Amino acid sequence: MKISPRVIGFHYTLKNPAGEVIDSSSGSDPLLFIEGSGQIIPGLEEKLLLLSVGDKRTIEVPSARAYGDHDAQLIMQVPKNRLPKAEGLEVGDQFATRGPNGEPAGVFVVTAVHADTVTLDGNHPLAGVDLTFEIEITTMRDATADELSHGHAHGPEGHHHH
Ligand code: ZN
Repeated sequence: MKISPRVIGFHYTLKNPAGEVIDSSSGSDPLLFIEGSGQIIPGLEEKLLLLSVGDKRTIEVPSARAYGDHDAQLIMQVPKNRLPKAEGLEVGDQFATRGPNGEPAGVFVVTAVHADTVTLDGNHPLAGVDLTFEIEITTMRDATADELSHGHAHGPEGHHHH
């Protein structure tokens, strides 16, 4: 028996451990994803798969199942002259890095500027943060052939043209 992946849509409000709202779909369209395609964090997807349209839940996702633990090895001192720009560097500047084969290898953010070096942090901003999602399921249906070949959902009814 072949089970075809579903498209699942949900509204969410995301809070950090202090109860502050980090992100929300309120006021915009629900977030849609194709089951099993890695489009949302694993600790949230595994819970959503068990729900039905109309279900509302509060789902706690530990950092290890969300954006990963904070990795001290991703914090490094780099000489300014090794960066794409050496002048006018500011805290918050971002640099996309590439691996040996040109593949995207993450984004590094400048967290401190020194005389000849800067401190770069390659951790995701939510690394090491336990997350709480308040969710409501809005869509649950089989993915269409078009959606599966494109690798993304086409709106709540699967007819969205783009
Ligand atoms: Zn498409």
